[in-house]
Amino acid sequence: MEAIVELSGVRKSYGVGTAVEAEVLHGIDLRLEPGEFVALVGPSGSGKSTLLNLIGLLERPTSGTLHIGGRDTTTLDEAELTGLRGRSIGFVFQFHHLLPGFSALENVLMPAIIERGVAGPDDLRRARELLARVGLAEAEHKRPSQLSGGMQQRVAVARALALSPRLILADEPTGNLDTRSANEIFELLLEFNRDTGAACLVVTHDPSLAARCQRRIEIVDGRVAN
Ligand code: ADP
Ligand code: MG
Repeated sequence: MEAIVELSGVRKSYGVGTAVEAEVLHGIDLRLEPGEFVALVGPSGSGKSTLLNLIGLLERPTSGTLHIGGRDTTTLDEAELTGLRGRSIGFVFQFHHLLPGFSALENVLMPAIIERGVAGPDDLRRARELLARVGLAEAEHKRPSQLSGGMQQRVAVARALALSPRLILADEPTGNLDTRSANEIFELLLEFNRDTGAACLVVTHDPSLAARCQRRIEIVDGRVAN
């Protein structure tokens, strides 16, 4: 079976060509199969977010190759990367990054608007369905500031799922939440993974959450440690 994510010899440096050039990832080999639910763990500063941003096509490797769904991304231009990212990948960050001036529903519609320029009836139906699934059907007209932290993150999860991605990348999605909200968010990701077969790569510092994943990848000092 074709890997959903495959990295080979990936290195990443920041500040290339400047006096502060520093290599953060030192040759990462990694494979994620379709439908896998994997925890990305490791000490703070080890390069987990950098790795996630590379896989999410938000940054480019300095060298090495990165395939998403069998496609070599190193040869793609910016527009092609943006297209592939929009169609294939959903993101959840530690801080929800919801747009403050828009309602919960509008935030969940945003990926469709960005992808297609306009949200149609199907997008609206899907957005409402997702808000219902994360338990926020009643809150669709509320702005982020009117919601609790856990609710805001549930909107962010609904938004990440809006375009039915094959790959979910979540960077400490529960890092800012109390235990109960953290469990709820994690449950939603597991449920989406079970229901749709989307692969999920989740950065977490919580051992009990990591233990619920099928597999753990540990990053230490910019290298895969296991
Ligand atoms: P983690 O998510 O595991 O805490 P990060 O990927 O955020 O680790 O950071 C790994 C290293 O890369 C750290 O030393 C950090 O300071 C450095 N780093 C991260 N982003 C940048 C950047 N945009 N410019 C320069 N250095 C960065
Ligand atoms: Mg990080």
